[in-house]
Amino acid sequence: MRKNLVAGNWKMNLTYPEGLALVGEIVNAASSAATGANAPEIVICPPFPLLHGVGQALPQGGKFHLGAQNCHQKESGAFTGEVSPKMLASVGCEYVILGHSERRQYLREDDDLLGQKLKAALAAGLKPIFCVGEPLDTRESDETFNFIGKQLADGLFHLSNEEFDQVTIAYEPIWAIGTGRTATSAQAQEVHAFIRERIARAYDGKVALDTTILYGGSANAQNARELFSQPDVDGGLIGGAALKAADFATIIQSF
Ligand code: PEP
Repeated sequence: MRKNLVAGNWKMNLTYPEGLALVGEIVNAASSAATGANAPEIVICPPFPLLHGVGQALPQGGKFHLGAQNCHQKESGAFTGEVSPKMLASVGCEYVILGHSERRQYLREDDDLLGQKLKAALAAGLKPIFCVGEPLDTRESDETFNFIGKQLADGLFHLSNEEFDQVTIAYEPIWAIGTGRTATSAQAQEVHAFIRERIARAYDGKVALDTTILYGGSANAQNARELFSQPDVDGGLIGGAALKAADFATIIQSF
């Protein structure tokens, strides 16, 4: 079901006490904003060791939800250092980010592995936030649509209708992540509309209209309203600005 949504990706930041302090500030700053017809669903995605504590600090049954930043593709077994989707669900996670460009780049996660992770996450009842986005040279050589189209076809469109229904897509141009260089609202809208059109082709028009598509890449308290006002932008996946409670609260109120 399509909805407004803001997810905060804390990446590899904050100790346990720091994370608890930040989530307390976010809940205080954002609770009044988290009501009303346009109010977004809010997903907080801390590092693994903070998940349970942060989840406990979120008001239950409302707009706040817990998400992880990654999961393994198997349910359990001899995979030292890994965390399974089932474990995430058991500590209260409802969402999991998959395909983030940092993991594609530094951890060499490819479409085949991401396909397995998607299936495993869905089987455990988690809702994937699946990231796509082009590098700068791809944009500069006018290959953005080809690149994103391939990421969608290879990474996502193998899912059944029922599985795809659980997925949120995040368009995150790599050149905009953590760089302070945001896509213009027109650039974001253009790619979001393209993604929706590709979903319509792969599934159907109703599925496309029902899909939540987020923008990510240096979104902040100043530019969120303009980005979220675009017809195909349903919210944001927020990195740096999600670590500042006041900024994150402003972003949540930007619909
Ligand atoms: C991200 O990591 O998903 C992200 C969008 O980061 P930032 O907002 O810092 O660019």
